[in-house]
Amino acid sequence: MTDAAELRRRTQELLAAHPPATTGRLDFLRARFDAGLAWVHYPEGLGGLNAPRSLQAVVDAELEAAGAPDNEPRRIGIGLGMAAPTILKYGTDEQKQRFLRPLWTGEEVWCQLFSEPGAGSDLAALGTRAVREGEDWVVNGQKVWTSSAHLARWAILIARTDPDVPKHAGITYFLCDMTDPGVEVRPLRQITGEAEFNEVFLTDVRIPDARRLGAVGDGWRVAQTTLNNERVAIGGMRLPREGGMIGPVAKTWRERPELRTHDLHQRLLRLWVDAEVSRLTAERLRQQLVAGQPGPEGAGMKLAFARLNQEISGLEVELRGEEGLLYDDWTMRRPELVDFTGRDAGYRYLRSKGNSIEGGTSEVLLNIVAERVLGLPAEPRTDKDVPWKDLAR
Ligand SMILES: Cc1cc2nc3c(=O)[nH]c(=O)nc-3n(C[C@H](O)[C@H](O)[C@H](O)COP(=O)(O)OP(=O)(O)OC[C@H]3O[C@@H](n4cnc5c(N)ncnc54)[C@H](O)[C@@H]3O)c2cc1C
Repeated sequence: MTDAAELRRRTQELLAAHPPATTGRLDFLRARFDAGLAWVHYPEGLGGLNAPRSLQAVVDAELEAAGAPDNEPRRIGIGLGMAAPTILKYGTDEQKQRFLRPLWTGEEVWCQLFSEPGAGSDLAALGTRAVREGEDWVVNGQKVWTSSAHLARWAILIARTDPDVPKHAGITYFLCDMTDPGVEVRPLRQITGEAEFNEVFLTDVRIPDARRLGAVGDGWRVAQTTLNNERVAIGGMRLPREGGMIGPVAKTWRERPELRTHDLHQRLLRLWVDAEVSRLTAERLRQQLVAGQPGPEGAGMKLAFARLNQEISGLEVELRGEEGLLYDDWTMRRPELVDFTGRDAGYRYLRSKGNSIEGGTSEVLLNIVAERVLGLPAEPRTDKDVPWKDLAR
């Protein structure tokens, strides 16, 4: 039984064998993975020890106290939060062995090739085609809004393998090598001036059948694991009190008394409480996850995250007055991660606009909560039994 004491012992053993002060960063991370201390709830041999997920905090605290490097989770969020749980659930033994270690250490960055120009909220309508040719699948199509595609070595990809059946049935899930011939990545500039995301054109890209994840035609079910994990990854991050967007505005309030008004005070207090409630609810959601895979409840967290970020960053701009309209940098940068710390209020205000779109729009998440959490009647769907090729596009 791997309990907290056993994890502490193993962590100290790792630190003694690989002292952080004298061990290279990557060597340390690889050794940590091999010791089963990467994500303790994963199976043995795959970076874990089959331990309760809640005990990860024990390992993290010991390593932090010893000054050990981490795997920069924010830089590799799509890999950790979305690709890994899907590969763990549906991957073959070879796929798990090949992909999970470099994914966790951050040696290989992942991106998500799901959305298309004609398929966002209605993702199951996607038109990128994968056609079987011998041992390969030949993929043609266009993806859009692909965060980090310019940094990624691998992508989780869904494509249509059977146009003759209804849209949800003819989709298959693949692991796509972003360095393969036929993969072209072009930057898309956002409202912030930065280009975090991209268009990705796939032209006769050959993906070996060994890199199919799950059964042919079962891609929609496999993708649900990714999407449910995505909402938790976006909305359910572990944060200290005042760790989110509320932090900078509370700091300004304390340090700049000349900016305060009674009206803004009331609104700040309300948002501070909402942010704290949301932070604690995310903690509870993570505890529920200890018991299994995330369900539709993550949609609620993601909804709250988007609304709060937009309201809080709006309040901050208002509080700062003219100064709040300043924006630090309009050069087109290609950031390695989305991080609002150290950025000005204008950046936070603009970037949070995307929070109610990425990972499912707030309108669509409300539908999911209504149908799958509250059990309300479903929206009418007229295309459920129509072959994809006959749908109006
Ligand atoms: C910052 C950012 C990063 C992203 N990163 C990625 C990524 O890495 N990989 C990836 O695959 N995608 C990514 N996306 C894409 C994202 O998932 C889609 O933008 C999103 O799913 C919405 O799809 P759409 O843009 O096609 O809008 P549409 O689906 O066309 O929606 C347009 C409007 O119609 C509303 N609407 C649509 N259907 C309904 C309905 N049934 N009921 C009520 N209202 C509805 C929507 O809420 C929205 O307001 C990213 C998006 C953003 C903003």
